[in-house]
Order: sequence, then structure tokens, then C-alpha cells
Amino acid sequence: MLERKAFFVVVDGLGDRSVKDGKTPLQIADKPVLDELAMEGCTGIMNTLGPGIIPGSDTAHLALFGYDPKLYYKGRGPFEALGVGLNLEEGDVAFRCNFATVDDNFRVIDRRAGRLKDEGSVLAKALQNLTIEDVKIIFFPSTEHRGTLILRGKGLSPAVSDTDPHSPEKVPPLESKPRDNTPEAKKTARIVNKFVRKSREILSSHPLNKERKKEGKLPANIVLTRGAGIYQKVESIKDRYGISSCCIAGSALYKGVARYAGMDVLNVEGATGRIDTDIEAKAKAAREAIKTYDFVFIHVKGADNASHDGNLEGKLSMIKKVNRLAEILREEDAWLIITADHSTPLSVKRHTSDPVPVLIYGEGIRKDRVNFFDEVSVACGGLGHLNGLSLNRIIMDLMGCGHMVGS
Ligand SMILES: [Zn+2]
Repeated sequence: MLERKAFFVVVDGLGDRSVKDGKTPLQIADKPVLDELAMEGCTGIMNTLGPGIIPGSDTAHLALFGYDPKLYYKGRGPFEALGVGLNLEEGDVAFRCNFATVDDNFRVIDRRAGRLKDEGSVLAKALQNLTIEDVKIIFFPSTEHRGTLILRGKGLSPAVSDTDPHSPEKVPPLESKPRDNTPEAKKTARIVNKFVRKSREILSSHPLNKERKKEGKLPANIVLTRGAGIYQKVESIKDRYGISSCCIAGSALYKGVARYAGMDVLNVEGATGRIDTDIEAKAKAAREAIKTYDFVFIHVKGADNASHDGNLEGKLSMIKKVNRLAEILREEDAWLIITADHSTPLSVKRHTSDPVPVLIYGEGIRKDRVNFFDEVSVACGGLGHLNGLSLNRIIMDLMGCGHMVGS
């Protein structure tokens, strides 16, 4: 029987290192509610994937939802595809894509084609209904210059390299290579290369690109692929624990991981996945959702964006927003868990393996002696040193749907 519902708040890239007078942003920030919850609740420190392992946001979220990335991570592409609302079939290989600009020698001039606005959806229409060999090509535009490619057919593999050079200096040819010796990898690389060449052929003569050239803009004359991943259907959270779950997030990746785990995705106006996200709107949606769902996952992305930019003020303002979110959510009779997927220290502007703080608040929780919600204080907390999978098991047990070992 379900004993209590739960809000699960993940603040992307929240963990940090000392930035000022030996203090982390969480130690500097004004966050009275978070500190109060730490005082009333139980805390701990977590390496999402294990000590010393630098988590990607995708693998970290898999672990936080109870899916061991060693077994369940097959590349990022499917999460992006699921996140923009596409439905995948077992064995589909999905990629993240960019519309880009290349010259006649396939040299990349701009891997974002001067950042498109809404033109992506027009260009994408020209790439529909293609079949290469026996593989169906499905291409969808997403925001700006981005898109998603799905290869659907028999004998495909995610073990192929990117055609996106990631840096403009790389010389042609932009070629995907098999990463292993299997016929599946060789076939997939071949199909990808044919698709990229085909996209160049179709897009170069597209009227919209002719117009762009006239206006002095870069033509979006090729599609480049990266982040290949194969889709496998997995046991959902509902199958495992018998609970209903939903996701409130701004960015496609997190919606995608949530859908992969069987969560419903709620679209909230104003949830942007950026520093300007409307936290009141998210909190309101979460309070509404907890009436229907047992487990409500709320993703807050802005802290990671600010960290990648080395923007302390931005990070502090996001912590303030999380403080407000906690203030609203604590009013509900549900567990409130607040943590991060990984650290993104301002000083290094990338993900690191530094552990992240964890806080669990709710009536009857065993209180520890920690009075502040920050990386240093919570290291003395009652939850000790966790990983993502163990935090997920703890939450499921608190909700009353964990599984006993033995009898
Ligand atoms: Zn992240």
C-alpha cells in the first residue's frame, strides 16, 4: 500500500566547489526554507554514479529513477527523440541533429547554420518519406537549428561515430564510422553517411536556402548527426513499484528520460529549461499533479546553465528559485526530496564527480543533526554517502512500495 506520495526535485548541476571565501554557492545563497527543511529533515551526500565517476545528465537521471546506466544506457539519441514527443519502436536508432552550413568541399562553415529560427520545420519537410536501402528515415525538427533523426529497420546498431565534427576546424569528409566490426554497425554508418549526403543534395536546392543566401544569411544546407542510441523498451516505474509518476521539465532530454521510465510528461507553460524558468508555474503544476500522481519529478535546469557560463549571480538566483519551489511544495502532505544530478562547478564550467547534496523532508522522517542545505553540511547527514540507485530505493521504501529482500 502506498504510504505517502513524493515530490522529487532535481536541480541540475547544483553541486559546486568553493567560489568565495572558501564557500560554495549553496553556502553563500539566501535559502532559508531549504535550510529549515534540512534542519527538520534528513540529509546526505551523493555520487549519482559512484565516487569519482563524472555523470552525464542522462545517465545520472537514469540512476536517480532506479535504472542502472550500465544496463539501461544505450546512447542519448532515444531520450532526445522521446523528449520531443516522438514514439520509438524497439531497435530504432535515434540521433540528435543539427542543420549546419558546409561549403562545396563539405567543410563545415557553421555547425548551427547561423542559428535558425523557425525555418527548421520548413526544411525538415523536404527530408520526409525517405528510405535508404531497407531503412526508413524519420526526421523531425525541434528548436532552432536542432532536429532528431530516427533510423527504423532491421539490423541497426548505435555503435557509430558522429558526423558532426563538434569543432569547425575539422577537415572533410564528414563521415560516420562503425565503432565495432559488426555488420550492424557497418550498415548503420553506411546509412547515416548516405542520409547526410542526401540531406546536402536536398537542402542545397531548397528555395528557403536560396532566400537565405539572398538575404546574406548562411544556408542550412546539411544535417549533421551525433549521439547515436538504440531504443529498448524497459520495465516502467509502474511495472516495478505499482505507482503512477509524471515529469515537469523544460528541456527535452529530461522529458525523454522520464518517458523512457514510463512517466507521463506534463507540459507547463513558462517551464523553459533556462535561468528564466517560471518556478511559480512549475510549483503550481506540481501541486496539481500530486493530486493525481504518486511520484512527481520536477527538473530545474537553470543552475547548470549558469554554471557552464561561470555565472555565480545566475546560480544564486536559481537557488533562490529552488528555495521558493520548496516553500510551496512543503505545504503538501508528501515526501519532498531535493537533490542534483551532478556538480557543475563555476570554476571549471563542466560536470565533475564532486558529490551533490540530498535532502528528504516529510513528517516522521528520522532527523539528523544537519542544519543547513549545502555540500559541506550534508556530508555529516543521516543518509550518509549515497548513489543514485540507492536514493531511488530509499524513496520507494519511504513511499511504501519498496521490495523486501528475503522474508
Ligand atoms: Zn545535468
